[in-house]
Amino acid sequence: MSLTNCHLCEWHCGVDRTKGELGVCRVGVPQVASRMLHPAPPESYTIFMAGCNFRCLHCQNWDIAHFPDTGARMDGEIEPAELARESLAAMDSAYGRIMGADRLFFSGGSATCSLPFVEAVVAEARKIDPRTKVNYDTNGFMTEESLERVLDFTASITFDIRAFHDDVHRAMTGAPVGPVLRNAALVARNKEKLWEFRILVVPGINEAEIEPLCRFLADTDPTLPVCFLAFRPNFVLAKHIGASLSVMEQAVATAHRCGLDNAYWSGRPGLSGTVIDKRRGDYERDGARLAGAYAEGSGCVTHPRDCGACPQTHGCPIKGHIPVRRT
Ligand code: SF4
Ligand code: SF4
Repeated sequence: MSLTNCHLCEWHCGVDRTKGELGVCRVGVPQVASRMLHPAPPESYTIFMAGCNFRCLHCQNWDIAHFPDTGARMDGEIEPAELARESLAAMDSAYGRIMGADRLFFSGGSATCSLPFVEAVVAEARKIDPRTKVNYDTNGFMTEESLERVLDFTASITFDIRAFHDDVHRAMTGAPVGPVLRNAALVARNKEKLWEFRILVVPGINEAEIEPLCRFLADTDPTLPVCFLAFRPNFVLAKHIGASLSVMEQAVATAHRCGLDNAYWSGRPGLSGTVIDKRRGDYERDGARLAGAYAEGSGCVTHPRDCGACPQTHGCPIKGHIPVRRT
């Protein structure tokens, strides 16, 4: 079982999580954070797994992503067979049928930190109903072997990409972008498994990344579905300005200009905020310098950010950050 020598994601920690050793994600034995029928497309029974291998400044689910360091209550360890039974029953309930919930949806945090558990739940669900569909939500930061495993059991994948350039990706997430782009290209070549790529648009931080990302995706396949998500002030960026309507419309226009026919946006634009007047010099691009300054302001010690090589990875001030507001 891959938790005993964990190489599930691109941090390649090699730790034995069954014996209490912790890697960068700091997730030991997989735990469910919460689960519910969820009306957002694809309508599903969504299982949020606790913990994450990224430390994104903009995180919306920071209280479960930064498990076990936030003190937030998790649903905890659940037997895969029990969770499978419960999930199928919920989708078959009157509310589940009215909603049109037709698949299990694994999210987080990052479900990759719990991949063997996810596989076990899917296997149990398919013992009950072999036609059980599964969506896998990912930040893309998994090994090629893990992605092959995911492609093997999923009907659909929702794939978040934050940036094209490494310095911007590191400043936003604490992790390098190379594996994410490699895996995005692989999923793009398996388009029948793709629900959509999702690109969060954070004003002043990754707006300049939209065009190179769109060109990268359009070069693979101009028909790929791409959804731009409007940034809502959150977590370390709780006071940062939200994405405006015009920023979102420009993102879609940029995608069309790059040749992506199937691009659209969603979310709640226009939330108020400010932009700090600081930049960190050890990043190349202005958006990365701004994100680096926000990270530094919340105590991040390694720049360019690299959570895998950081001396603070097990006492990380970003994981301990409590935001001033939630939107
Ligand atoms: S960060 Fe990745 S490789 Fe390291 S323990 Fe967590 S899932 Fe495994
Ligand atoms: S302090 Fe270190 S581990 Fe924490 S976010 Fe910054 S680089 Fe990553």
